[in-house]
Amino acid sequence: MNTHDRRTFLKCAGMAAVGAGLQGRAMAEEKGAEQVADAAHELRVKMEAPTGPLVSRTFAILQDRIQRRCSAKVVEADAGVQLILAIDGGLPPDAFRIDQVNEAVRIAGGSPRGLLYGVGKFLRTCRYDGTFKPSPWRGSSAPRGSLRGMYFATHFHNWYHQAPAAEISRYMEDLALWGVNAVMVIFPMINLQDWDDPQAEPAMNMVRLYAKTAKELGLQFATGVGNTMFTGAPKEIRATPLPDPTHRRGNSGHPICPSNPDGHKYLLDNTRQLFEKLSDIGVDILVHWPYDEGGCACEKCAPWGSSGYLKLSRDLTELGRSYFPNMKTVMSTWMFDTPPEGEWQGLSDALAKENGWLDYILADAHEDYPRYPLDVGVPGQLPLLNFPEISMWGNWPWGGVGAHPLPARFQRLWDQVKQAVEGGFPYSEGIYEDMNKAVVAQFYWDRDRSARSTLEEYIGYEFGSGVTQDVMTVIDILEASAGRAQRKEPADVDAVRRACQLAGDVDARLPGWARQNWRWEILRLRAVLDRERFAGDGLETPSAEAAMARLIEIYHCQMETDDPYHHRVRPRLKRAVSRKGEL
Ligand SMILES: [Zn+2]
Repeated sequence: MNTHDRRTFLKCAGMAAVGAGLQGRAMAEEKGAEQVADAAHELRVKMEAPTGPLVSRTFAILQDRIQRRCSAKVVEADAGVQLILAIDGGLPPDAFRIDQVNEAVRIAGGSPRGLLYGVGKFLRTCRYDGTFKPSPWRGSSAPRGSLRGMYFATHFHNWYHQAPAAEISRYMEDLALWGVNAVMVIFPMINLQDWDDPQAEPAMNMVRLYAKTAKELGLQFATGVGNTMFTGAPKEIRATPLPDPTHRRGNSGHPICPSNPDGHKYLLDNTRQLFEKLSDIGVDILVHWPYDEGGCACEKCAPWGSSGYLKLSRDLTELGRSYFPNMKTVMSTWMFDTPPEGEWQGLSDALAKENGWLDYILADAHEDYPRYPLDVGVPGQLPLLNFPEISMWGNWPWGGVGAHPLPARFQRLWDQVKQAVEGGFPYSEGIYEDMNKAVVAQFYWDRDRSARSTLEEYIGYEFGSGVTQDVMTVIDILEASAGRAQRKEPADVDAVRRACQLAGDVDARLPGWARQNWRWEILRLRAVLDRERFAGDGLETPSAEAAMARLIEIYHCQMETDDPYHHRVRPRLKRAVSRKGEL
């Protein structure tokens, strides 16, 4: 133990001697063996926060995450207290403070949700190397961004679509610990004939599961709407296809023309049914989406972004607020002016006259951030959000070779917008880009926190002490390899071999709880698969096949599927079958 750690340890002596190990023995020498024997396996937590479901849940999360990593038992207690969980109404609701009260560490939140975020910071800065070592972190922290979302794309039988409810719930807890405060999930009308489609009910149950889980964690539930609806929509109300000369904004699904009175009625009627089915749980945020799944190029709707889309978004907002009076709205401008047709300017002109019904403008693109809101200003002078694509870049199939960390990429993209953006909804296809989620969630919390600093905290918490530098090196090599793949350049074979060697060395040093953590497994398997595909004999070797088979288990992929899109999210194991082909 170095001098600094020693001092921290002594400062926290009241709760340091938890678990058996070196520090437990050190405590025995200082305080007498008897006392330590009592305290050895207990972390005594006093609940000063008023009881309620989220406070109880927060305690349960704390207990579970610590007990999973070391032999300490986390118990509620009123005497001999080592940790206090409290609410301090003087803090902003999402803020927290961690300080010292006599022998105990106190985590106070401005609300139960702020307490949950504080517990997240505490957990990530504790150490669990055989014994429990409480966090030395002291101070206050409040989020800068007001909307710190995640968008889960629940389709293609990806992890979000396939994972059991308990895993989803646990994963959402983990994201909440990083400061996330909103989750978006969309009802996939695009894949359904109508409300009577046999898949409609399971799809709605899935949306409701995410909504309910979000609410239980104090997170906002967001869903998206637009002018794309069921595949069974009558032909005569369909939209006029968009010109898409750059092939970037798409014409997916079956969009409806809202300028056609029957089309407008169809859109409103079906959105009303969607709200009805969510009315008992509630929708906190409605996100309007213009393109890919959406758009109409008819004379009355054009230019879509500042005419047909704008009017429809306002009508759907009004409808939504009749169910959910406090519902916030986000207007996405994704792929506006691609090609240029005055959508940004038209939206600015319209919102200059009336913007009261909108809360946020969302913008983003496949690569660099759109210039209009940065150079000219945000339409309606509303808070601006981003929509970083954290899943697909440099990566096919998505997650198919394991973890996909891109800290340098997201740092670069964030630096373009960090002065202007209030938060956003990263687009996620699965759990393999978990590191990107942590990085972006922390950008939203503290715009000046670097991706590297977040990952160092992530590594210490998820993989344990003493491996940070090596894991960072592995991550840097994996990111560089993804960049070369994206640019269709040859891999750096030596670097790829080194990353795999290093991942193996780290693996041998990890404590059992970290080695069994899926977050470590997917990173290690990525290093193995990069070696096989870039510096070995390809992805049909026994070790590549074993790695992909394990990823398939972790992602809950189907080995035989009828989903023609499943191959987008399933590792390319030769024996995996797509019975209806691949689209
Ligand atoms: Zn139209």
